[in-house]
Amino acid sequence: MGQNRYQSWGRYPKAEQNALKMFWRHEPIPSSDEASGNILPFGNGRSYGDCCLNDGGTLIDTCSLDRFIQFDAEQGLLRCEAGVLLSDIVELVVPRGWFLPVTPATRYVTIGGAVANDIHGKNHHRSGTFGCHVSAFELLRSDGSRMLCSEIENPEWFSATIGGLGLTGVITWVEILLKPIMSPHVLEETIRFANLDEFFSISEESDTTFEYTVAWIDCTAKGERLGRGLFRRANHGAASLRGRRSTKYTAIALPLVPSALLVNRLTLRAVNSLYYRNQIRARRTRTKHFESFFYPLDAIGRWNRMYGPRGFLQYQCVLPHSDGATALREMLEAVAASGLGSFLAVLKIFGDKESPGLMSFPRPGVTLALDFPNKPRAMELLDRLDEITRSAGGAVYPAKDARMSRESYQAYFPQWEEFSRFIDPRCSSSFWRRVTGPAE
Ligand SMILES: Cc1cc2nc3c(=O)[nH]c(=O)nc-3n(C[C@H](O)[C@H](O)[C@H](O)COP(=O)(O)OP(=O)(O)OC[C@H]3O[C@@H](n4cnc5c(N)ncnc54)[C@H](O)[C@@H]3O)c2cc1C
Repeated sequence: MGQNRYQSWGRYPKAEQNALKMFWRHEPIPSSDEASGNILPFGNGRSYGDCCLNDGGTLIDTCSLDRFIQFDAEQGLLRCEAGVLLSDIVELVVPRGWFLPVTPATRYVTIGGAVANDIHGKNHHRSGTFGCHVSAFELLRSDGSRMLCSEIENPEWFSATIGGLGLTGVITWVEILLKPIMSPHVLEETIRFANLDEFFSISEESDTTFEYTVAWIDCTAKGERLGRGLFRRANHGAASLRGRRSTKYTAIALPLVPSALLVNRLTLRAVNSLYYRNQIRARRTRTKHFESFFYPLDAIGRWNRMYGPRGFLQYQCVLPHSDGATALREMLEAVAASGLGSFLAVLKIFGDKESPGLMSFPRPGVTLALDFPNKPRAMELLDRLDEITRSAGGAVYPAKDARMSRESYQAYFPQWEEFSRFIDPRCSSSFWRRVTGPAE
């Protein structure tokens, strides 16, 4: 496999690193003679920034740890090696009436990566993070020791490794509790909303009755239209939908993602507006196959390349409820005024179910995710967004970050020093050195 595999999804920053594959969960971590410099486990590189990169060191590629170990189809308990992709899990379990308890917007992430970033999905308000559904895993340290981790066995290591960014050692296998479903389909309702106030009121109404909620917003809109968009809410379908035929992917499930050359103020406004107006009716209800509802971006394949060789930047923050609406307004005004915009602007309310992870990103509040072509002006805008996030007492998601300052990181995650004592002495990452290392 070429070195291209060892990039992050945003293709920025670049890193020069070696990579060694682990083929078997019982083998030890390569010795320091074999692996030069610091080591870092690598899943499938679906993190956007540098938490999966290790410039100057060695990546321990876990993709060949791809075996299922045990599946109890009665209880929905699944144990598999850490490099198994969520796409392989859904393929195995959906026909047997089970689904992932939490899923991100792509199924091409490994279960080890899902634990290490303690990922969240459209059901965070109900089910919390992925880590809330992990019953156990094994942690392999560079000294050869192995720890069974659960809420009962080695609970402090369990907590440090969920959301621990691969720094506590290599997770070799993971056990999760799946969620029962009656059908591979979901019933989705899409509602058009005119501004942020409407978003908040639809969210509040939906979060009690819908398992999945998320909104796309037109981040080029200003004034009274600030924060207008489409709200999507859904529940798993009933048994009567089991045999139903439906297309797996629908044509305009997403705003288009044009090439970097086309990303300018005019195309941004046109594409965002077109997508908003594409839904003629104020409300629309549809039955969708789970793939089309959960993973529309996967249908486009390697859409990250469309931003060109300089790559792109994602920004995902959470703003606590107390200050969230005001800070969000300020943020969207700054984005609209910059003209930089984003084709994929996503808004969602996080719930208050606490994760077992010491370093987990989600916390109660509103979360906004945006992406931008990698340009100096985008960097300046993101620094401005960080100021707003910090003064609102929020946080930025490390899995999506390539540029936040050490001051911002340490303000968002003040527990980082407590976490440091769990770091394996041979593990480090480009991200960790950037946000906790000495100032350059
Ligand atoms: C299109 C798209 C949509 C996304 N949507 C969401 C979303 O809705 N919600 C969300 O939370 N995230 C989302 N993400 C981010 C993604 O889910 C996370 O970055 C995830 O952690 C990537 O997993 P990976 O297997 O690719 O791991 P990598 O990106 O390779 O690594 C991620 C981290 O996990 C560590 N790691 C990997 N394997 C192991 C192991 N075996 N042991 C210990 N540590 C390990 C790495 O060191 C690194 O710190 C999305 C990403 C993309 C590209």
